[in-house]
Amino acid sequence: MTYAGLEGKVAIVTGGVGGIGSAVVERLSAAGAKLVIVDLDGDRAKAAADALDGDAIGVGADVSTEAGVDAYLEAAVQTFGSADLHHLNAGIAGRPGVQLTDAAVDEWDAVMAVNLRGPFLGTRGALRHFAETGGTGSIVVTASIASLRGAADLLAYTTSKHGVVGLVHGAAVYAGPIGVRVNGVAPGIVPTPIFGEAGIQDMKKRASTSPLRRAGEPDEVAAAVAFLLSDDSSYITGAVLSVDGGASVQNTNRY
Ligand code: NAD
Repeated sequence: MTYAGLEGKVAIVTGGVGGIGSAVVERLSAAGAKLVIVDLDGDRAKAAADALDGDAIGVGADVSTEAGVDAYLEAAVQTFGSADLHHLNAGIAGRPGVQLTDAAVDEWDAVMAVNLRGPFLGTRGALRHFAETGGTGSIVVTASIASLRGAADLLAYTTSKHGVVGLVHGAAVYAGPIGVRVNGVAPGIVPTPIFGEAGIQDMKKRASTSPLRRAGEPDEVAAAVAFLLSDDSSYITGAVLSVDGGASVQNTNRY
């Protein structure tokens, strides 16, 4: 698969060894990009980089901290000379099955830190990098179908992902005049380790009633991310592209 403008670019993927992140890494590498694979699990990130055919490094970093974001940006610049493409994808679901009245403040804060502060820090870091170097590039943040609808037992996750849409909109308005595009991708149900092993079976069952009657594959999300990072989407900014088999447009209350 070829994409305009990905060849030779330096691409950062956070949560890069997870289900969706590793599919994005594969796709961008196959398109000729140089990869900076960022994950809390630094050993797996380094192993993933070693296993790729193309140029790649793995960086262990916590995206919810300024130090973590500075570390991966510095590693990208030191190794490859720039940081052009940013897929801010690391995320956590939080403890499943917690109803609003049982939600604890520290659990709420933990989800917000990774899912919302992380993309804020990553977007700010990317834009500061572009301002310092005079370069331009593209940013894609992983939102969710939970950016568009509520789930009673995933309140912090839902709220954080709604916030991601606000970040994409605001950052796109800021960054457009300097030639940087900021978009989001909103996956529906994609069986990955994010909800644990038990969650994977439940996800597949729920996806079977969506319009396409199945769960998504990580590579189907990766295809949308690669498109949004590439010059093929050169007039798209501030968009949040649903990759959910139609689940977000389905009226489940129909009688
Ligand atoms: P995953 O659990 O397979 O991958 C998430 C990765 O993020 C893991 O490798 C984890 O180590 C890493 N990570 C977690 N906290 C981190 C931190 N503080 N710093 C750096 N790395 C950290 O899950 P996934 O399904 O691949 O999720 C990727 C993104 O897609 C998340 O933002 C998630 O919310 C979103 N998403 C997933 C689905 C789905 O159905 N799988 C649906 C909608 C949105």
